Amino acid sequence: MKKFVYTTCEMCTGRCPLMVEVLDGEVKHIWGNPHVQGGQQCCPRGAAAKALLSDNERPQHPLIRDGERGSGKWRQASWDEAYDYIADRLKTAKEKYGAKSILLSDRGGPMTEFERTFLAAIGSPNYFNHHATCSNSVHNAHMSIAGHARNSVDYDYENCKYMVLFGRNIYESIKTTEAKTVMDMQEAGGKMVCVDVRWNYTAAKSDKFFIIRPGTDYALTLALIHQIIKDNLYDPDFVNRWVLGFDEIKRFTIPYTPEWAEKETGIPAKEIIRIAHEAGEAKPAVIFHPGWMTSWFSNDYYLRRAIYTLNALMGSYETKGGIYINKKPGEVGLKYRTLIGQIPKVKEERFDGVGTKFPHLSDQWGLAQMLPHAILNEDPYPIKAYIVMRHDPLASLPDPDLMKKAFAKLDLLVSIDINYSETGWFSDVILPESTFLERTDHVYVRSGSGLTPHLTLIRQAVKPRFDTKGRGEIFKALADRMGVGQFFPYNSPEELVAWQLEGSGYTIESFDATGVIEPSKEQIWYDRKDGIKFNTPSGKIELISSMLEKHNIPSFIPYESPPKPAEGSFRLVTSKVAVHTQGRTTANIGILNELYSENHLWMNTEEARKLGISDGDTVEVSVEGYAKKIGAKLTDHIHPEVVFMLHGFGDTVPLRTKSFGKGVSDIRLQRGLLKTAVGGNCPLTECVVAVKKTAA
Ligand code: SF4
Repeated sequence: MKKFVYTTCEMCTGRCPLMVEVLDGEVKHIWGNPHVQGGQQCCPRGAAAKALLSDNERPQHPLIRDGERGSGKWRQASWDEAYDYIADRLKTAKEKYGAKSILLSDRGGPMTEFERTFLAAIGSPNYFNHHATCSNSVHNAHMSIAGHARNSVDYDYENCKYMVLFGRNIYESIKTTEAKTVMDMQEAGGKMVCVDVRWNYTAAKSDKFFIIRPGTDYALTLALIHQIIKDNLYDPDFVNRWVLGFDEIKRFTIPYTPEWAEKETGIPAKEIIRIAHEAGEAKPAVIFHPGWMTSWFSNDYYLRRAIYTLNALMGSYETKGGIYINKKPGEVGLKYRTLIGQIPKVKEERFDGVGTKFPHLSDQWGLAQMLPHAILNEDPYPIKAYIVMRHDPLASLPDPDLMKKAFAKLDLLVSIDINYSETGWFSDVILPESTFLERTDHVYVRSGSGLTPHLTLIRQAVKPRFDTKGRGEIFKALADRMGVGQFFPYNSPEELVAWQLEGSGYTIESFDATGVIEPSKEQIWYDRKDGIKFNTPSGKIELISSMLEKHNIPSFIPYESPPKPAEGSFRLVTSKVAVHTQGRTTANIGILNELYSENHLWMNTEEARKLGISDGDTVEVSVEGYAKKIGAKLTDHIHPEVVFMLHGFGDTVPLRTKSFGKGVSDIRLQRGLLKTAVGGNCPLTECVVAVKKTAA
């Protein structure tokens, strides 16, 4: 029998709405969901979920370590045995050292209810996710300036008239709904300016592309603020009503002229002045995009604050073509319950220093980079157990050997994943999760639906191929064993959805027709005169942040020019390609592996020539005695101080035979960068590598 199932893609964090064609219990084809605005597309990774489903090189049943950590020796276990093994050790850790000795991390996003509820229910405050190497600085910057999380706002691309991207590769680091609406914007005549250290597909599709010297984006933004204020290009009504600190920022940016910035950035002063004027003419339908994967430099926090300042000056908030605050389901009369909403927040000291050592950082996403320090030094207290849920610190954070040394000290390391992750390979127990096509999760608010709030969920399309389970079942079973099962009031996904929607007038069947519950297609915009809800202490945009002042942290810092790498050395910049999600999630999927199986080192042609390197040569890339061989790809369209490689290659898990040993791991080159910059990010792009020609 043929049927269509509406669900949510989980092949990357884009979480696009999908329509899955199922014939006689088998997935036949995967499309974008045609009923959801902007959701009609599905990228190659989403379509490859079918190949993931049929992949036999993923965990097929629970495994318990049967040798040294990382030895790859496992014994198959029943689910009950694995649950008991984990619960026994969690109980011991809790009794001896307190619940806070237990950590849990995941990839973040709106589908994290089960694990966060479990951790809060057992009494630990120590939830964190992957954002230390992703969006922490932009998130914390926006919290300080507007009081909103990065993902509490979104962008009205379709109506935007002028957008400036700083290293945001919107057409390659794909979120299809976003890429599609940016295409719509361009088709409607909206202009796009791309600033990056390297040519990429987004640059190719932009109206203007500028190669910038790495580490100088802050100089560019300061010069733009300077020029916009000097030439009265800002929105005075919005600034007078909603912005605090205008005079201070005006004084602060006086020295940062376009002519000064030209010497720093390499972008001509006349072009900087042109951007300021074009944005001023298009305002308020302007987006200075604050970026996504923003773990770049130590000054990243100030760069992101400066970008949000540009948006504030343009009056871009809560206007068509600008930035809008995501509206809540309650604003369209949509009521639903969440698991995490039943539990008060755990108010214990965190392991990572958020709230203590780092009082200005949000505890929403935490600081994964603090793991080795906290575990090895028992600072601020002993850490004994760590559950890793679809997150892979050993493949995503710098210095994995130090991380392994810390993990070796744990009494329990558990990986819950659809893949054999590097962290999973080093863990004590692997609990295999069903893929999104094989399970139903909880109801959640679809991200990117902030103007017309609506609910959706991951919905099972086919039965699990192996002895795998959904995370809702896994965390309920663990919660039962830990004596906190009352926080998981269901015996099946259908019961959970019924509990969530009780009293709302909707049921799980309400998702059948379109995949979403959307009471109204009418867009909600707050009144720009009196209705915008900024969650800062003043209720306004605070260019000079009262929260930062309270903690004696400056709201802006003077620009410092980044040192030029020595001859033969370069800044290592990394990014993604459209067919892979952070490498490891998708690298071993046959059809995607065939398209892109290993990374290369992009180099500036002239710089390469000076080192005797030709296109296709093998080069050695090294840092502090660690060296790897990689193929060189030469291009004129990359800044001479930069080399570039795709993130996520160099897989070390032998069971993943298609991706094992292919390419070079960027994180192994990012030595000594397991640091916390002021914005809570790891300053990954401060990695400088030496490059020389070598034998293949
Ligand atoms: S961008 Fe692609 S992989 Fe990511 S959620 Fe959307 S369809 Fe899935």
